[in-house]
Amino acid sequence: MQILRAVESGMCFGVRDALAVLDGIAEPVQVTLHGELVHNPEVLALLDRRGFPRSPEATRAVPSTPAVLVTAHGISERERQRLLAAGKQLIDTTCPLVKKAHAAAQQLARDGCRVVVLGKRDHVEVRGLVEDLVDPIVVGSPAEVAAWPARLLGVVAQTTTRAEVAAELVAAIRAANPQAEVRFVDTICAPTKARIEALEQLLPQIDALVVVGGHDSNNTRQLAARGVAAGIDTVHVENVRALQPGWFDGRSCVGLTAGTSTLARTIDEVHGWLLRLAAGRTRSSA
Ligand code: SF4
Repeated sequence: MQILRAVESGMCFGVRDALAVLDGIAEPVQVTLHGELVHNPEVLALLDRRGFPRSPEATRAVPSTPAVLVTAHGISERERQRLLAAGKQLIDTTCPLVKKAHAAAQQLARDGCRVVVLGKRDHVEVRGLVEDLVDPIVVGSPAEVAAWPARLLGVVAQTTTRAEVAAELVAAIRAANPQAEVRFVDTICAPTKARIEALEQLLPQIDALVVVGGHDSNNTRQLAARGVAAGIDTVHVENVRALQPGWFDGRSCVGLTAGTSTLARTIDEVHGWLLRLAAGRTRSSA
């Protein structure tokens, strides 16, 4: 059994930079993480051990700590002002590429567009994007596309949307709204695209795929969905403990990739496990 690791996988600069800020915080109990920093239980467990309080994603309550850390997913300007008005010191780790998506949505709104956000309605990044918009639309699947009474529709995407999914949704929006000019600003982030492209290179060579990352991580799920859509047997695990040797019976070439919030250590553990499994099978068949 051969193991092929994607040339681009795992943690992106946005998450890495946010974690570096957290590393530098001397008194974690004084800083509430406003929503999940990343959708990765391994990372969150590390932060819990350091003592950072976390406000649940859905909460509207103002945290009780003097400082609040805005996660890489960002928040709306409305939420920022609410926290500042409550006297909170904000430590902002919003990814610059999420800020670009906010700027694009705001520009489209200023240009007179009704703004459509492609993404998951309940995702913290999407909530941050839409909270500053008037009458926004969120579309997660072609079934949610409708005819909207607008002359101008401005479309942006959650940064971790798969490009082909975005293209499909934009085409569906155009087909359902022939009266409207549809402007699409591609706000999908480069690290997400790079991980999908690296996976595309693996797909013709593999007969099974292991995707490592949080089950709630949008971009990790997109990687797994791409494997499934390509007809490759795919398993999505959060860590090495979830791997089952029997799942690899009869596989000749296994691909390995990971989402943008996955720790390098977690991927290395999975990779090492796969290499040991492959070596054992090679020995036993020799
Ligand atoms: S996935 Fe993209 S947008 Fe999100 S933190 Fe990473 S680089 Fe930034």
